[in-house]
Amino acid sequence: MTEAKTIENPYVLALENFDITADRLNLDKNIARRIKYPERELTVNFPVKMSDGNVKIFTGHRVQHNTGRGPAKGGIRYHPDADLDHCRALATWMTWKTAVTNIPYGGGKGSVICNPLEMTKHELEGMTRRFTSEISIIIGPEKDIPAPDVYTNAQTMSWMMDTYSMVKGYCVPGVVTGKPISVGGSMGRSEATGRGVVFTVEEACKHLGINIAKTKSAVQGFGNVGSIAAKYLHLNGSKVVAASDVKGGVRNDEGLDIPALMKYCAETGSVVGFPGTDPISNEDLLVLEVDILVPAALENQITRFNANDIKAKIVAEGANGPTTPKADEILFENGVFVIPDILANAGGVVVSYFEWVQNIQHLFWKEIDITEKLKSIIVKSFDDVITTAEKNKVNNRLAANMLAVARVAEAIADRGIYP
Ligand code: NAD
Repeated sequence: MTEAKTIENPYVLALENFDITADRLNLDKNIARRIKYPERELTVNFPVKMSDGNVKIFTGHRVQHNTGRGPAKGGIRYHPDADLDHCRALATWMTWKTAVTNIPYGGGKGSVICNPLEMTKHELEGMTRRFTSEISIIIGPEKDIPAPDVYTNAQTMSWMMDTYSMVKGYCVPGVVTGKPISVGGSMGRSEATGRGVVFTVEEACKHLGINIAKTKSAVQGFGNVGSIAAKYLHLNGSKVVAASDVKGGVRNDEGLDIPALMKYCAETGSVVGFPGTDPISNEDLLVLEVDILVPAALENQITRFNANDIKAKIVAEGANGPTTPKADEILFENGVFVIPDILANAGGVVVSYFEWVQNIQHLFWKEIDITEKLKSIIVKSFDDVITTAEKNKVNNRLAANMLAVARVAEAIADRGIYP
């Protein structure tokens, strides 16, 4: 394997970013020690009956990074690479994400190491139900509330909610968010993360004096986050000239017909082969001549090896951790306006919070109210981050991390140490 292909461990990157932030804040060492590492980690190895009659043992994790400001909150990922360190990194970023948006949660994340693309629906249901049962000792509406992430969706959340409720003996909709509307899901949740990404892009365009309707954009990862971000960029008049998924990408310099691409993708399972387009690799998509780049797939996409080739003026991180710290420095030096993940993709957790509040209160809000409340939180968080960046003369990521870590540190200091 060449050096360029070495994947960096996201947890090492998360810890590195924390150290940079703690130093810049001059954070009390005793507080820093308490919030740097996860509070609780559960690893489970559990059996699932597969369709061919064999029993397969899966390994899963649930990590609660910090609960200083409220219950742990964060998605469940199904992926072959979703090991404990991935989970720790993603849980850490959730703590900063809930803090930067100032919603009353901590951070957590869960994963099962598997390849869902090669599993039947029945196998996925069996795996989800047994995994939920295994982690049910630490999750709950007042303790830790999972949500969808890569290769999990509203159906997965419905199975989790049902399993948890069966064990309890009564319906507990507030145990997970991102559920279907029929079982207590919130209006607007399925689109919330992508919508939030585009709210931050709109703010960035205003801040930089760019007319969004005259921009070109590219989206890596046409899943839940990427496709919805593409939809709202398109609705804003931006020409989305390229989109990709795990199987490859498509481009058309005149702009892709995003509603048609979404339909095609739902029917075929991929963007690849969409009529009227040329193929493009995931690597080439990142360095296209566009104004707005939305990495919305996985971690470690923009690294020291390709950061100098990024031509976009704005990078809006739909994915968690797509940019390494070294690449961050390069982008900053090159004047690229990065909207960091904990801000850009926070829309999902914000509407998850609304869903949880509705579940606890047994009432439903209208989509228009949800979108309005979401926008006001994202715009306020964007302003907070920009103000912090300008005041401290730091890049947007460090500014977002400084805001978040300071809020968590304050909560931890106020709570003191038990006993
Ligand atoms: P998803 O499973 O709906 O979509 C993932 C997309 O990425 C798919 O199109 C998949 O084909 C593509 N992909 C996977 N591996 C790839 C690769 N190696 N190269 C290119 N494309 C690849 O997942 P999602 O929920 O849209 O999550 C995407 C990212 O957004 C993740 O980093 C996730 O942590 C983050 N995120 C998701 C949410 C949410 O609400 N779903 C919230 C915040 C952040």
